[in-house]
Amino acid sequence: MTTYLITGGCGFIGSHTCLSLLKRGHNLIIIDSNINSSQNVLGRIYKIGHIENNHYENQITFIKGDIKNYEILKKIFIDAIHKKKPISGVIHFAGLKAVEESVKNPLLYWENNVFGSINLFKAMKSYDCNIIVFSSSATIYGNPKEKFFREDTTIQPMNPYGYTKFTIEKILKDIYISSNKEWKIANLRYFNPIGAHESGLIGENPLNIPNNLFPYICRVAYKNYKELKIFGSDWNTYDGTCIRDYIHVVDLAEAHCAALDYLIENKPTILNLNIGTGIGTSVLEMVNTFSKVNKIDVPYSFANRRSGDVPSIVADNKLALKTLNWFPKRDLSEMCKDGWKWQINNPNGYN
Ligand code: NAD
Ligand code: UDP
Repeated sequence: MTTYLITGGCGFIGSHTCLSLLKRGHNLIIIDSNINSSQNVLGRIYKIGHIENNHYENQITFIKGDIKNYEILKKIFIDAIHKKKPISGVIHFAGLKAVEESVKNPLLYWENNVFGSINLFKAMKSYDCNIIVFSSSATIYGNPKEKFFREDTTIQPMNPYGYTKFTIEKILKDIYISSNKEWKIANLRYFNPIGAHESGLIGENPLNIPNNLFPYICRVAYKNYKELKIFGSDWNTYDGTCIRDYIHVVDLAEAHCAALDYLIENKPTILNLNIGTGIGTSVLEMVNTFSKVNKIDVPYSFANRRSGDVPSIVADNKLALKTLNWFPKRDLSEMCKDGWKWQINNPNGYN
């Protein structure tokens, strides 16, 4: 049994990844401040375990804490060593992720995302833990001309959030070089994760009005909001609405397990990998698929373009497929079905 430290493990992607790791028999130490999540997610993970005849309670240690606090991180590493279950690797999800908020309050983002990450890397270095999978984002590419974004596509973040992700990747690269290339690092550049676990017990839980398309569609379909505003109908795309690469969150979770396996089995390296499906879907296609699969109306109207939006973001995911021996298995219909199941079973999230 290997022990992994999961920062931000109560969040949307973190909780699904924890479940995938637990199924593989790993021990997890989760640190989360719950600034954008609920601790109740753990009870749901245990419940899924019981349904599947597993008892994940023994595999999880939860610490409510902030990675900006170095002393907490230090204690986590020391305690694990004393228990003779040293931390073999880290998946680093903890971060703030709202683009607009990062424009309004950049210091909050630099402090939380970058300073928090530096603390984590310092603690890892001090306690000889040098395997890390980092939650990066396709947002670091900005608005390049290419139809499919490759890992070597120009990096040009368009907002403070994107810059924090790019900066953390850069810090990791510097650590890798300065450590005489002893670290094993995977920067996973996520495209647009949506959907939920098929049980309907865990899913995305925006604490405020959602900014993102998919949770907003769910709430319109649930009649929390009257209609979806589609931001722009005059983009240079096949139906005039923006295109994104949506990936089922469980496929994304499995990519993390594959990345950890890869790092453990291979020589030290630093990898940048696009984690998407390689398939572009327009906003209108998303709305239509959601309506059709779930047999529910999603009223919408067209509005002005959202500032800072980019017409098309689709992954070239060949490097990830080849390196990780992983591929996304769930299509758009499954994303819509599972996301809707989560919405109707949990209209108040984890409360
Ligand atoms: P999320 O907000 O659901 O999860 C992030 C978790 O980190 C939350 O549980 C939050 O409470 C915790 N957290 C934040 N700051 C913390 C701190 N200083 N100390 C401890 N815990 C802290 O977001 P998510 O969608 O699961 O995203 C996870 C990671 O993936 C984030 O780093 C995000 O930037 C990145 N990412 C997300 C997307 C997306 O579309 N969801 C896309 C690309 C990258
Ligand atoms: N979008 C929209 N209405 C909304 C939310 C999003 O039309 O209420 C559009 C948005 O303009 C973008 C796409 O849906 O083109 C995906 O947006 P999201 O915020 O989910 O992802 P991101 O733009 O960050 O990739």
